[in-house]
Amino acid sequence: MPTFVRTDKCDGCKGQDKTACMYICPHDLMMLDKDGSQTGHAMKAWNQEPEQCWECYSCVKICPQNAIEVRHYADIVPLGGSVQPLRGSDSIMWTIKFRNGTMKRFKFPIRTTSEGSIDPYGGKETAKLADITKSGFFTASGGYRAGKADELIRRK
Ligand code: SF4
Ligand code: SF4
Repeated sequence: MPTFVRTDKCDGCKGQDKTACMYICPHDLMMLDKDGSQTGHAMKAWNQEPEQCWECYSCVKICPQNAIEVRHYADIVPLGGSVQPLRGSDSIMWTIKFRNGTMKRFKFPIRTTSEGSIDPYGGKETAKLADITKSGFFTASGGYRAGKADELIRRK
C-alpha cells in the first residue's frame, strides 16, 4: 500500500525548503506544494506518484507530525483500510484498520539509527563508478546497459 499525506496534520515541516519526507524518500516522490497549485493545499506535502511508491515507509516513520498514512487506492479498496503510525520517542504505535472496521494496534520499538547519523559505508572506501562499470551490467552514465542476444532466456 502506498503513502498519502493527511493535509489536516501536515505542517509542511514549518516551511523548510526540503521537508523531512522529501529528504528521506529514496524515490524522490514526496513534494511540498508551496502554493497549493498541485493539491489545493498550500505548504502541504504530497506523494506525487503513489503508484511508484516503494512502500518502504521511511516517510511515514520520519514525519514529525504523523501526517503520512498508508492505505490502498480508493478505487481498489472503496471500503477503506489503512495503516496509521503514531511516533513516540522510542517506539511507533501502528493502528491498522481493516476493511470490515476491525482495528488492531501494534507497538514496536524504534531500532533505526537516528536521522543523519548513519555511516553508509561503515568506514570502507566510497564506491567508484569506474569499478561499478567493470561488472559489465552498467553503462558509464550509471544506467543499465542494453541486453545482449546471448543473454536472453529462450523458450524451446
Ligand atoms: Fe508534512 Fe510530515 Fe512531510 Fe513534514 S514530513 S512536510 S509534516 S508530511
Ligand atoms: Fe517514498 Fe518510501 Fe514514502 Fe513511498 S513509502 S513515498 S518510497 S519514502
